[in-house]
Amino acid sequence: MTIAILAFQGAFAEHEQMLRRLEVETFLVRKPEDWQRHKDGVVIPGGESTAMLRIMKDEGLLMPVRQAIADGLPVFGTCAGMILLAKQVDEEARERLATMDITVHRNAYGRQLGSFYAEAPMEGIGERVPMTFIRAPYITEVGEGVEVLAALDGHIVAARQGRQLVTSFHPELNEDVRIHQYFLEMARDASRNGNDFSE
Ligand code: GLN
Repeated sequence: MTIAILAFQGAFAEHEQMLRRLEVETFLVRKPEDWQRHKDGVVIPGGESTAMLRIMKDEGLLMPVRQAIADGLPVFGTCAGMILLAKQVDEEARERLATMDITVHRNAYGRQLGSFYAEAPMEGIGERVPMTFIRAPYITEVGEGVEVLAALDGHIVAARQGRQLVTSFHPELNEDVRIHQYFLEMARDASRNGNDFSE
């Protein structure tokens, strides 16, 4: 099992550590050559989505990453990663990966006081899941085929659509490995169904 981690900017090292703890091979993606390597899934970390998007475009990686996800490569997007995967983000132009049928509100908890910790139930994970929010977005609408996995104060903070998993919060910043394990299970299922990721 090999997981690629987009490492343009943001909290990629924490995902790397988490996945290593789970004894999974990882590699960081900064250049198109990196992206060529075999992978069973990809993690898009939190950070600043506008900066990440700019670098991804400059490196010519936006289209190949989008295509791979559209073809069924399992993806786990946290925070800014979730923003990049959303088909709709506030009133912003639609230039991003836009592979997941969700509408996202950026910096939804306010810019200054927007960082906090909570514990809430998450479907498929458990009753008390640690959730660290950092200037986080939340999901305001989901399309058909999107499963809501967690909500906090009435706002959706985790969801899944097929092989795409997103969280508003940063599971890589806590000790709890269950969400990463859940993603690895998705990736294992996908690779069992063959390397051709189209369904
Ligand atoms: N506020 C950031 C953005 O809009 C996301 C924050 C995060 O990833 N922790 O891109």
